[in-house]
Amino acid sequence: MKILMVAAEYAPLAKTGGLADAVAGLSGALRERGHDVRVLLPKYPFLPPPGYSLRTAGDTGGPFEELVGERPGPRVYLLEADEFAVNTKVYAGNERDAASFMRLSRGTVELPGNVGWQADVVHCHDWHTALVPALLRARPDRRANSSGTQRAGTTRSEHVQERAPRCLLTLHNVGYQGIFPEEIIERRGYAELGALRDEAERSARTVNFLKLGIRYADALTTVSPTYAREIQLPEFGMGLEDVLRARRSDLSGILNGVDYREWSPETDPFLEPHYTRPNLDGKRRIKSALSAALDLPDDGAPLIGVVTRLVWQKGIDLLAAALPALLENTPARFALLGSGDAELEQSLADLAAHHPARVAFRRGYDEALAHRILAGADFIAVPSRYEPCGLTQLYALRYGTIPIVRATGGLADSVRAFDPGSGTGNGSVFEHADAEGLIWAVSTALGWFGDAALWPQLVNNAMQADFSWAHQAPEYEALYRQLSS
Ligand code: ADP
Repeated sequence: MKILMVAAEYAPLAKTGGLADAVAGLSGALRERGHDVRVLLPKYPFLPPPGYSLRTAGDTGGPFEELVGERPGPRVYLLEADEFAVNTKVYAGNERDAASFMRLSRGTVELPGNVGWQADVVHCHDWHTALVPALLRARPDRRANSSGTQRAGTTRSEHVQERAPRCLLTLHNVGYQGIFPEEIIERRGYAELGALRDEAERSARTVNFLKLGIRYADALTTVSPTYAREIQLPEFGMGLEDVLRARRSDLSGILNGVDYREWSPETDPFLEPHYTRPNLDGKRRIKSALSAALDLPDDGAPLIGVVTRLVWQKGIDLLAAALPALLENTPARFALLGSGDAELEQSLADLAAHHPARVAFRRGYDEALAHRILAGADFIAVPSRYEPCGLTQLYALRYGTIPIVRATGGLADSVRAFDPGSGTGNGSVFEHADAEGLIWAVSTALGWFGDAALWPQLVNNAMQADFSWAHQAPEYEALYRQLSS
């Protein structure tokens, strides 16, 4: 099948979080399964990265370029536009993002006429590209060649106009919807979207990109079965629960996969040494080196890692609230890596300053350190209030690093509470989003750590995890088939 992926992020070219890993992992796996997968991204000012070059895509003189690089993988088109030239990062975090991603969405509709290739399925991700189905709906003439850069009636445009693509929207996180004042749609030349909005948007005088996508996409997926159910409830739907319930027969949950070339103890490019079950000497050496690098003593005490964006969603305030009791009552040490809300950063920095031998906090985004924490720690804590899929717990399992998680979304679908009686399960799980729940889950997990019989069993269970994209991609493939049949 011919599949066009459109997204704001794509690892490693443009990444701020799990979205980038998910889009790249799925695209690569589908390509390996023989599909013609192409990716459309904005031409951010930091693209192309070193080692890559660009060539014009198609012969229309349009705004699309193709990335040429050493890494094998799907073909990547970059859309050049003034809107992308102003931001030095993926997101500006303000209304400029609306202009950028409107442009990307329109570019998606214009791509076939420019590069002479029409997808069977356009797969959009999150609010950034959620206008694509609405634009396809609003302007059937945009379904193929509408850029005006190619003469109508040429063989190519006839060919690409044969059939409009089907459109799948994946919801990676409904907490980010792209809600903007309605003026933006007229000012930017997208007046046709105004009429597609629902009553709530009209009376609030706003446009909600994600809601439009949910209403007009041919099908919807989200990134875990549990999150697919949760977002139909007011507690998790962030105001979209009604539109999501209305489309529940078109909504399914498919857990994200993992690229184990990047994220496994045998091949992780950031790790030295590598290790393989059941010999975990390498893991112990990584823990020692990590502890030294973080100025933490390495005396056999359990090490709990956290690698995350520091936002309300991730329950980091619960962790900060739980830490004093955990430091008082357990021997655990903490290796924390993250950036985000200034207040959360400050609370972790304060804890580290007060307990330098127990808590290390590195502020910022550090890919290498993320890998070393996920491999070198004994536990990884993910106390999220909600978690559509969550990748760090999937990565941690493979390294034999035991996840301590809240039972929500993809965390609930990938981590099962360890049962010392039967020896089944792969982590520690708590139900309620409060400090007590987290303290209980950490204390329970620490109880297994010292146990010569239980611990190897638990680590062994964890390391058997196989969430590779090779398993998950066929689920998307089945959906694409259904959509385009
Ligand atoms: P989300 O997409 O909500 O941020 P996920 O768990 O799905 O959460 O994905 C997070 C991804 O971003 C993982 O690959 C994780 O290792 C990475 N990550 C998060 N914070 C950092 C950081 N401070 N430094 C390096 N990598 C990070």
